[in-house]
Amino acid sequence: MSHVLAAVAWPYANGPRHIGHVSGFGVPSDVFSRYMRMAGHDVLMVSGTDEHGTPIQVQADNEGVTPRELADRYNRVIVEDLAGLGLSYDLFTRTTTRNHYAVVQDVFEGLHRNGYIVAKTTLGAISPSTGRTLPDRYIEGTCPICGYDGARGDQCDNCGNQLDPVDLVNPRSKINGETPQFVETEHFFLDLPALAEALGRWLDTREGWRPNVLRFSKNLLDDLQPRAITRDLEWGVPIPLEGWRDRADKRIYVWFDAVIGYLSASIEWARRSGDPDAWRRWWAADAEGKDARGYYFMGKDNIVFHSVIWPALLLGYSGEGDRDGDPGDLGRLNLPTEVVSSEYLTMEGRKFSSSRRVVIYVRDFLARYDADALRYFIAAAGPESNDTDFTWAEFLRRNNDELVAGWGNLVNRSISMAAKNFGAIPPVDPAGLTDADRALLDTVRAAFATVGDLISKHRQKAAIAEAMRAVAEANKYLSDQTPWKLKGEDEKPRMGTILHVALQAVSDLNTLLTPFLPHSAQKVHEQLGGTGVHAPMPQIVEVEDLDGGPAYPVLTGDYSVGARWESVPVEVGRPLAPPKPVFRKLDPSIVDEELERLGA
Ligand SMILES: [Zn+2]
Repeated sequence: MSHVLAAVAWPYANGPRHIGHVSGFGVPSDVFSRYMRMAGHDVLMVSGTDEHGTPIQVQADNEGVTPRELADRYNRVIVEDLAGLGLSYDLFTRTTTRNHYAVVQDVFEGLHRNGYIVAKTTLGAISPSTGRTLPDRYIEGTCPICGYDGARGDQCDNCGNQLDPVDLVNPRSKINGETPQFVETEHFFLDLPALAEALGRWLDTREGWRPNVLRFSKNLLDDLQPRAITRDLEWGVPIPLEGWRDRADKRIYVWFDAVIGYLSASIEWARRSGDPDAWRRWWAADAEGKDARGYYFMGKDNIVFHSVIWPALLLGYSGEGDRDGDPGDLGRLNLPTEVVSSEYLTMEGRKFSSSRRVVIYVRDFLARYDADALRYFIAAAGPESNDTDFTWAEFLRRNNDELVAGWGNLVNRSISMAAKNFGAIPPVDPAGLTDADRALLDTVRAAFATVGDLISKHRQKAAIAEAMRAVAEANKYLSDQTPWKLKGEDEKPRMGTILHVALQAVSDLNTLLTPFLPHSAQKVHEQLGGTGVHAPMPQIVEVEDLDGGPAYPVLTGDYSVGARWESVPVEVGRPLAPPKPVFRKLDPSIVDEELERLGA
């Protein structure tokens, strides 16, 4: 058994999440975590909502609420959505907790003490009418490089070049159209060049990373520039330095605070567990957590943060860059083992866009369809290694032809035939098993190794395809053996044997599919006469802030219970009732209905 950290991307709390978001980081990280737990590892799966930064400040201003009120609203929406999908976080928290503030400030101080944070004077834009800082992305103008008129202060979407707002020709505020004023302002920067060599050495030791991610990360090292980690903004974590702590106009940059969330959420989880140091088993680079592994799940636009910038922060905090230094108060910390990034999901051939209504929100989806139907689509056809298009026609086909007609049908006919003819799980008759019986049982048992290995290597598409291939074998077995024809009294023992074998296959296949389809796995477990928790589910719990801040909801759960990753013999004589279908067949008319909703 080893300690496995599943560090899952932090959704930004400025609106509900759509299925594109959860297909990238949410479902894959849950499938991985569930499997690793079932295989006996000690998993810590953490995340939360990312709640600071200018977009939330600006949106709150527009709505006439405080940023905290806005964040409260969407934190709750997102927590409910992720719970609805059955994502088994040990802790899903948020970045506005006092614990998070304290951990972020500790990391800032540690880096500062070691000399990896430097101060610089820069030109910042302010709005002449409000006196408030205008963030880069709210400044628009003409690109000085390609002449495109809609360039943003931080980047030109036409030529792709990174920009500084002061470079824009005819800069204007996207909020009210006025011309920004540029004033000198002091900020802190993370001295990435002083960490580049240590980063390079660490990247050289990475094994199993996708070659393009590794190459891309290494190429960045030569051009690393100091990166701003503070902003002119009131909404964020205060800067923990003398003379800065009490300034209301300067805050730690949202990217810096959010990426530390993996660590702060682990610490919060430990504090809530009653063993405040328990987080060290996943994080401490000394004896305690030396063998721990950390897997970071995110969309591909976030690779750089997790393969370069987050490791740089951790190296600097541990005192391992050009300037050396001592580990901060939390000690030397583990760097990521692997960065598991997904590609993009598009919707009916278009990019998801809330403003253009090319979107389906998680809660709207869950109001009309089952969570496992979406989880199945994401696992079987999601953007694991290629950009992938979600179409309603394909969703319908996968649900009806594979989930309902394949797996659902196998479950239903096996259990209902056994219930009707025996009322219980029948025994194997004394004549024993035939070659065909043994072949099916062997196929299904062998799948534990192959499916598990594929999930542990983040090849979930191949893993579920392998499980579904075994489902097809079991369906073929039933069709070949035709137990329904064995009606005579003398044929009944053979019928019982076939159904026993089929039910054993269903039970094992259900275990194999549990990481992907936890909701239906629990139902199948119960239809097989099982009791207790087979697939544990997350709970929403209202908690007090540990350090006196406002209360908030978290997602958490007891995942120590539930099925293990192994074949368990079915219990002869266990009563069976006629089953209800576990999956819903969808009417083809949903495709047109949904396309109409999309305005297509
Ligand atoms: Zn340009």
